[in-house]
Amino acid sequence: MSLYRFFCVLTIFLFISCKNSNDSVKPNVVLFLVDDLGWQDTSVSFWDRETKFNRLYNTPNMEILADMGVKFTNAYATPVCSPSRISLMTGINAARHRVTNWTLHPDVKKPAEINHNTFNFPNWNYNGLSVSDSIPNSVLATPLPQVLKENGYFTIHAGKAHLGAIGYPSSNPLNIGFDVNIAGHAAGAPQSYLGIDNFGNNNLKNKIWAVPGLEKYHGQDIFLTEALTLEILENLKEPIESKSPFFLYFSLYNVHTPLMQDNRFVEKYQNIGLESSEIKYASMIESMDHALGSILKKLKHENILNNTIIIFMSDNGGLSAVVREGEKHNHNYPLKSGKGSIYEGGIRVPMIVYSPFNNNNIKKVDHPVIIDDFFPSILELTNSDLKSIIQKVDGKSFVPLLKNETTELKPLFWHYPNWWGPSGPGIGSYSAVRKGNWKLIYFHHNQTIELYNLKEDIFENDNLVTKEPSKSNELSNLLTDYLISVDAQMPFNKIKNSAVPWPNEISIND
Ligand code: CA
Repeated sequence: MSLYRFFCVLTIFLFISCKNSNDSVKPNVVLFLVDDLGWQDTSVSFWDRETKFNRLYNTPNMEILADMGVKFTNAYATPVCSPSRISLMTGINAARHRVTNWTLHPDVKKPAEINHNTFNFPNWNYNGLSVSDSIPNSVLATPLPQVLKENGYFTIHAGKAHLGAIGYPSSNPLNIGFDVNIAGHAAGAPQSYLGIDNFGNNNLKNKIWAVPGLEKYHGQDIFLTEALTLEILENLKEPIESKSPFFLYFSLYNVHTPLMQDNRFVEKYQNIGLESSEIKYASMIESMDHALGSILKKLKHENILNNTIIIFMSDNGGLSAVVREGEKHNHNYPLKSGKGSIYEGGIRVPMIVYSPFNNNNIKKVDHPVIIDDFFPSILELTNSDLKSIIQKVDGKSFVPLLKNETTELKPLFWHYPNWWGPSGPGIGSYSAVRKGNWKLIYFHHNQTIELYNLKEDIFENDNLVTKEPSKSNELSNLLTDYLISVDAQMPFNKIKNSAVPWPNEISIND
């Protein structure tokens, strides 16, 4: 054998060995998604300094996870629940998947949209996710759990599903690729967090919000989050004993309304004299963190932490427009506003990734990422075969960022041609783009444009739209081109009898 041929054979052998070794790695994945958890609702700081909120809230297990893994300081979701959850399950941006508002009742827009005085809002995909083309107003895609199941994973859903309207198949997680469904259905909130209330199953007339499937805890003094955790620990036995890789999607109902206290965690907040609703809120945050700790403890006890990827995320910013005590729209400081808003308080969220296979001693990633990116990232981390995926994926894998590899700066897009209901800064109908440090917002309802440099002005106080006309024009064109390319829906102005114009049709000097 010539030396040349010897090296060719050696190269092929090494390639096959490496490939086989990569293919054989099937890490477990725990996706820990918290509902409505704001950027500041944790003792982990995601800013360059600690705030009063970081000192108020206690999340010791998030601190442990952040020490083990990587903090993403510029991580984004969408301003309300369902668009984030559909992007998470499909990798599609909200402008393209069109589940742009929150889902519940079948075949109808939200009451706030139907009753609006000025605008007709588009027929968005209010029936949510679909796995067959027979469902009207839904997005057809191959969902994440389905792909993972096809790749040999045991798939567990626990908590809030909220992926399809009542009566449609995707309202049940078992129809989108989950082997187990613990307490998930169409609704995006529980009627009650309390076992002594039977989690809201007492009202025989209205069961829309009643949490399904936890009957064995009815009547007990147990918080919903603890009941979910106990059920998860029970259901993990099967994949752990059979040594099957598993995907655990722990989608907590916390810290979404109704604010209800977890009695285990109220004392320290009572002692410092917080208002009643803020005691409840703080206890729900700690309850969430305790659940994270229980999962970490289980993984460690089973000696599988070194073969398990853990991803922590929230589905939108912290609630600040209603229900909370104190000054409205200030619960996410230094970020402006909160849930429902396109300002940073509505969309920037805590994110942590622990991946034992990519440990390069990186503790923090500042590169902007968005919830659309989770789908391709998880499929890359699990070495999954992608051939069954039918949708155009907008997200981009964040795995290179875990390895400190440079990656092209991708613009992030938001699109909400809808109406939420509550009012406040940045709450309305809008589209936005972030590229690098720059963020441009286009408000549909009053046809104004705002431009911020987030590196200099995380507070979004200094609107630079007229001071930086060339950047405004660049981002306005970028946003317009993207919206047109994905056939984005826009509201229709009933008074003017015309569709809301594209962002680059608005004069920035107005
Ligand atoms: Ca939410």
